Amino acid sequence: MTTVRTRIAPSPTGDPHVGTAYIALFNLCFARQHGGQFILRIEDTDQLRSTRESEEQIYEALRWLGIEWDEGPDVGGPHGPYRQSERREIYKKYSDELVSKGHAFPCFCSAERLDQVRAEQTARKETPRYDGHCMHLEPAEAQRRIAAGESHVVRMKVPTEGVCVVPDMLRGDVEIPWDRMDMQVLMKADGLPTYFLANVVDDHLMGITHVLRGEEWLPSAPKLIKLYEYFGWEQPALCYMPLLRNPDKSKLSKRKNPTSVTFYQRMGYLPQAMLNYLGRMGWSMPDEREKFTLEEMIEHFDINRVSLGGPIFDIEKLSWLNGQWIRELSVEAFAQEVQAWALNPDYLMKIAPHVQGRVETFSQIAPLAGFFFSGALPLNAELFAHKKLSAEQVRQVMQLVLWKLEALRQWEKDRITGCIQAVAEHLSLKLRDVMPLMFAAITGQASSVSVLDAMEIIGPDLTRFRLRQAIELLGGVSKKETKEWEKLFASMA
Ligand code: GLU
Repeated sequence: MTTVRTRIAPSPTGDPHVGTAYIALFNLCFARQHGGQFILRIEDTDQLRSTRESEEQIYEALRWLGIEWDEGPDVGGPHGPYRQSERREIYKKYSDELVSKGHAFPCFCSAERLDQVRAEQTARKETPRYDGHCMHLEPAEAQRRIAAGESHVVRMKVPTEGVCVVPDMLRGDVEIPWDRMDMQVLMKADGLPTYFLANVVDDHLMGITHVLRGEEWLPSAPKLIKLYEYFGWEQPALCYMPLLRNPDKSKLSKRKNPTSVTFYQRMGYLPQAMLNYLGRMGWSMPDEREKFTLEEMIEHFDINRVSLGGPIFDIEKLSWLNGQWIRELSVEAFAQEVQAWALNPDYLMKIAPHVQGRVETFSQIAPLAGFFFSGALPLNAELFAHKKLSAEQVRQVMQLVLWKLEALRQWEKDRITGCIQAVAEHLSLKLRDVMPLMFAAITGQASSVSVLDAMEIIGPDLTRFRLRQAIELLGGVSKKETKEWEKLFASMA
């Protein structure tokens, strides 16, 4: 019997998402339960959006939760490299193979031509799709243009009629009509593969036997299935996991709920409780108990117990569960966890330089700097009363700063300052008009230690969370304002 091998294949393009941790957990449990292996692969073929910082954060977040992998970019393994950007030649070889077998073809169409085709199709009320223009080029002609250095992509051929049957471990056979599939680009003009080619090639070469991925990928499954067929490879068992949702049932999004694992770490959730809660997403123990460890989950794991109703990721429920975990710790363990959370030497050393010069006794530290050890702050609207700015302008400034900071990847004081400065300038304000608002939102006080340093220290998750909290306190942002301000924001870049 072949060994079960599962994987998680995150793209390192942002904060480590709770959805990634959730899918990782289920892949881990499935593999462990079958005595198999769990692999981590980094899908960083989107060169513009992928960063090493984000990759590191994914490792840290998963490890913090207690999720360990047997093979991966950082731990190595027999099927490496495990980072797709280091596997270019491999994809090139397989793309060439598809072209020579006639399953794929080079496409030289310009963006302008594609736009035009799309516009015409839309005008005729047709589903926009590639019109097959380059599919019939003579291979020799195509080779000549490639040799001449002409920019091109490689597209796969797809059937135009009939249905593709996707055998899903949870839903049974799902039928998807072929006419919904476009002639997917497999290799981009930059010589890197798209998700589809890279994912299929790697899952095959890495010996993945079961793919548990989020259900947002179900609609594109036929393309993957076709690729396995073109290559003559056995396709892994497929399992499309239900998506996490906000309490209002919409897809979990950071606009409504913090989605970064590091946010929950900074808020002082226990990793075991967080993992436990993720294990409750669409799954339950045979005896329905709420609190269980990773080992217990693995022991009782049964993929057939996953239910398809969209699991709700509800912070209040998570907090309740976290409370159960906290109360069941021994007092010694509790004290240790608190220390590890924010009373550790690293964190204290970041705060000390800003506090030392401002106190006469240690007992003044907590009132001055308690916000370093808090999540949400007890804010009051008066803190945000502004001499020069109207109430609307106050919310506007804070919303624009929030958006700017949401896009900031390197969380450093100078860059944070740059973001605030850029917003101030764009609104023809002075930095010193804006800073009191930052002060109020981040520290909850009229004066404290330097707020720019404080923002760097508490980190992106808590900074954004508190700005959001302040905006909500002041009445939030209406739909109309969101539209107007988004435009204003777009004109800043
Ligand atoms: N790179 C994809 C993602 O970021 C992987 C999806 C899959 O598991 O195939 O979600």
